[in-house]
Amino acid sequence: MIESGQPAEIILEDAGPRPLRTVQPDEVVRLEQVHRIYQTGEIVVHALRGVSLSVARGEMVAIMGPSGSGKSTLMNIIGCLDRPTRGRYFLGGTDVSTLSRDELADIRNQRIGFVFQSLNLVPRTSAIENVALPLVYAGASPAEQLRRAREALAAVNLSDREKNLPSQLSGGQQQRVAIARALVGNPAIIIADEPTGALDTRSSLEVMEILQRLNRERDLTTLLVTHEHDIGRSARRLITLRDGRVQHDLPVQDPLDAGKSLAALPAEED
Ligand code: ADP
Ligand code: MG
Repeated sequence: MIESGQPAEIILEDAGPRPLRTVQPDEVVRLEQVHRIYQTGEIVVHALRGVSLSVARGEMVAIMGPSGSGKSTLMNIIGCLDRPTRGRYFLGGTDVSTLSRDELADIRNQRIGFVFQSLNLVPRTSAIENVALPLVYAGASPAEQLRRAREALAAVNLSDREKNLPSQLSGGQQQRVAIARALVGNPAIIIADEPTGALDTRSSLEVMEILQRLNRERDLTTLLVTHEHDIGRSARRLITLRDGRVQHDLPVQDPLDAGKSLAALPAEED
């Protein structure tokens, strides 16, 4: 086992074509032997058992694995919502594994955009106000809030729905508003934990088309948890977790193009 601080070259057990090197240009995320142990009273759950991985700027990575394999725990650590119990996590070269909760929250607000499975927009609040919320907290001027929220809504093809309340939007549209909200702070990484888990096929493809386009056009590093193989195969790299360990970490041959799949769907019947 490689202990933190040891500079030796680290090779993934599941070898593959992607050995971790000590220095990598454009490395955004680097985990070294990360463990996460939850302790609730007498019950101890070892949710991550020595995960090492490196993600470069502009990668689009899907994380798959059975329920309970540690996917959300891993995303929460990479997204700075949680800290490793053991091991080290470098975000853009900074060791964030030892930061205080407040410092972690600052980094999270500046660098991470989250999209969750549940459509967690603020009710009775328009789409554009939902998108602008992170900027309100960040203290941006009202004019800047509006400009940037409009830009983010345009990036998810919802310019014509600015004033709509969440209840006036479909599930897929709500998820696109959530993506715009994740984008508006100009994050280094988008973390999407089962973003299509609650959506039908067409809405899922629309969400994936947007994530793929943002990744391609803005070089936006994207980490995506999914249960669905077709969604996983829309990424360019697929990591499989099992029992808190990386089981496979491989490039996706010939990734699916969500835009093309969308165009190939039969026309909607109303
Ligand atoms: P996945 O997202 O792959 O379904 P999770 O990361 O949510 O897996 O969970 C991994 C393991 O850690 C599971 O056994 C789960 O019950 C446990 N776990 C997750 N979050 C907590 C928590 N906050 N407290 C205690 N145990 C947890
Ligand atoms: Mg989960």
